[in-house]
Amino acid sequence: MPADAAARLSEVKNRIAEAARGAERQAEDVTLVAVSKTFDAEEIRPVIEAGQRVFGENRVQEAHGKWPKLREDYSGLQLHLIGPLQTNKVKDAIALFDVIETLDREKLARAFVKERERGAALPELFIQINTGEEPQKAGILPKEADAFIALCRDELGLPVTGLMCIPPVEEEPSLHFALLKKIAERNGLTKLSMGMSADYDVAVTFGATHVRVGSAIFGERPSVNG
Ligand SMILES: *Cc1c(COP(=O)(O)O)cnc(C)c1O
Repeated sequence: MPADAAARLSEVKNRIAEAARGAERQAEDVTLVAVSKTFDAEEIRPVIEAGQRVFGENRVQEAHGKWPKLREDYSGLQLHLIGPLQTNKVKDAIALFDVIETLDREKLARAFVKERERGAALPELFIQINTGEEPQKAGILPKEADAFIALCRDELGLPVTGLMCIPPVEEEPSLHFALLKKIAERNGLTKLSMGMSADYDVAVTFGATHVRVGSAIFGERPSVNG
């Protein structure tokens, strides 16, 4: 692995392009979300300066401490929330993020509606699907996905554009990627956030439009924050 983040970024982009070619897809149709959680602004700057503009964070508070200043310093940044969102942080999250990938329950959907009624412009929303049906993991169960998508998008009018999943670590991810794509297709959703450092190339093969890559760009994280 190259020693600096900019070189690792370039390697990840090459692998995405290669996987896209293999799947007869355009590399431009895959958005790399560089997951900068646990890394501070000074570690993020070189990656921005290497041209990266789309980033993912998993905690509202942590993102709030880093990104307002980075947004002042660099133009065109796009920030994705990829971690669980508490309803009491919805207002802050709307102010900070361009895309929230973790809409995972009705209470949260209704909290977005409430903010919209108060005049907020909502960010793009992805619904998180618990494809592995893991009890400890957030997300809508596959068998409940169609109804939840209908509730959020059609009944509540939320700007839902895609789906996101985090497959169980010990399972073959491609089965989960294929399931996510199937749910998206039958519901007319075009965006698929799937694939992390260990399997983003597989995810591209299975149709990912967004891959969330952290350690392959920034290096290993201290384990506490996932
Ligand atoms: C941390 C995280 C990632 C990135 O993980 P890596 O294995 O470091 O690439 C992707 N998605 C989510 C939801 C995460 O929390």
